[in-house]
Amino acid sequence: MKYQPNIGLEIHSELKTESKMFCDCFNDPEEEKPNVNICPICMGHPGSLPVINQKAVELVIKTALALNCQIPNSAKFDRKNYFYPDLPKGYQISQYDLPLSEKGFLNIGNKKIKITRIHLEEDTGRLVHPKSTNYSLVDFNRAGRPLMELVTEPEIDSGQEARQFSEELQLILRYLNVSEANMEKGQMRCEVNVSLKPIKGELGTKVEIKNLNSFRSVERSINYEIKRQADLLESGEKIIQETRGWDENKQRTFSQRIKEEAQDYRYFPEPDLPPLNQLSDISFKLSTEIPELPQAKRIRFENEYQISNTDINTLVSNKGLSDYFEQVVSELKTWLKIKSIDDHQSLIKLTSNYLLTELQKLLLASKSKIEDCKVSPENFAEFITLIEQKEISSSAAQSVLKEMFDTGSDPSHIIEEKSLKQVSDEDVLIKIVNQVIKENPKSIQDYRSGKDNALQFLIGQVMAASRGQANPQVVGEILKKKLNK
Ligand code: ADP
Ligand code: MG
Ligand code: ZN
Repeated sequence: MKYQPNIGLEIHSELKTESKMFCDCFNDPEEEKPNVNICPICMGHPGSLPVINQKAVELVIKTALALNCQIPNSAKFDRKNYFYPDLPKGYQISQYDLPLSEKGFLNIGNKKIKITRIHLEEDTGRLVHPKSTNYSLVDFNRAGRPLMELVTEPEIDSGQEARQFSEELQLILRYLNVSEANMEKGQMRCEVNVSLKPIKGELGTKVEIKNLNSFRSVERSINYEIKRQADLLESGEKIIQETRGWDENKQRTFSQRIKEEAQDYRYFPEPDLPPLNQLSDISFKLSTEIPELPQAKRIRFENEYQISNTDINTLVSNKGLSDYFEQVVSELKTWLKIKSIDDHQSLIKLTSNYLLTELQKLLLASKSKIEDCKVSPENFAEFITLIEQKEISSSAAQSVLKEMFDTGSDPSHIIEEKSLKQVSDEDVLIKIVNQVIKENPKSIQDYRSGKDNALQFLIGQVMAASRGQANPQVVGEILKKKLNK
């Protein structure tokens, strides 16, 4: 391609605070009844005065620190004036020239993507358009909720890179417990700016795409837009600066609003709020509260555990899951001693396998989170050692885990109670094998005439006769010995 794409992101995230940005209304993203979490302050009644939510300021600074930003010693709020029915005051309190943070970066792959600024503002209300009516309704529950805006430099060069950036940001916000950052619920909203420039030229005219509510649409709308602009430039046309939407059904962008000139928001310092001072003290205190972030965790996991990169990514992309994994790994140490096992890594591999397949399946089926799981890390570790030591078969393991999941009991208890202990004792197994051989002369013939799956059938018969307790490997060996005679 003759052109170089330049993409800049503007990402809004709803902050997880108890109350709204400038009043003590409940900040509840789950509230469905309209206009219950409102008061004279967030409704902009004359004479009401805003008060800054300290927690929201701290959450933005925490995010800024995690994203390598500079925190100035002071910042201020400004009024951004415009008219829209979802904006009760006729202006939004935001930050203009002195934001809470500037000049950060986030590494995506081997590339450092610069972050221009991260600032704090208040959210707007929400317009509701009831079907088959000629009116709209306004729900102000969202008005005045704390909103963080992050702006990047136009340095991203593909839809895929923009998606990666947004996904990594979402993960970091969740690690920091700053925002639930769920795109479908509008807790994280991405706007993308796309332009093309000749390989050795100036930045081109940008087009802004709004209302993207999934990472997939971030990626696809950018790719579509790059192609659309390249085609226009190829045929000698100019790009017009405009805002476009994304049509999910047709998988294409469409023009929404043409920017004839920059809108004048008549920004001025918010006269009802004091400036934010002594931010260095706050940021120093908060810098000690930043947990290990996903990128550092991925590297540490690669060094400490011999598990696949895919498994590492899956674990790290869910903080609860990776914390649980490490609690189990630490509990395993106790079991290693008790059972005198020396291959720690093979147990760790087994742990990640069972966690990411069997336990995940149970969590998904019951729509519950690992944080609420009844299986304690200690019990899970014991469960893993029982499998490793072949005290339960893999089919018994599934029912043991299901029982642990439902009741929270420990695995040895369940194995005892349900007689699930695997039987490897040859003397016991030979008796069952003899019985099965006697009852299945046809399969014996099949096996001897070279049909290998006859052996599988016979093992299955022994398993059934032992109610799943027989060790299938030992049964296979006994059968082969007997039948090859
Ligand atoms: P505006 O004033 O129109 O909001 P800003 O300069 O504040 O523009 O930038 C908003 C976003 O647009 C930022 O993410 C920035 O990186 C991006 N951006 C700015 N210029 C371009 C461009 N020429 N091409 C692509 N993105 C751009
Ligand atoms: Mg802007
Ligand atoms: Zn309020």
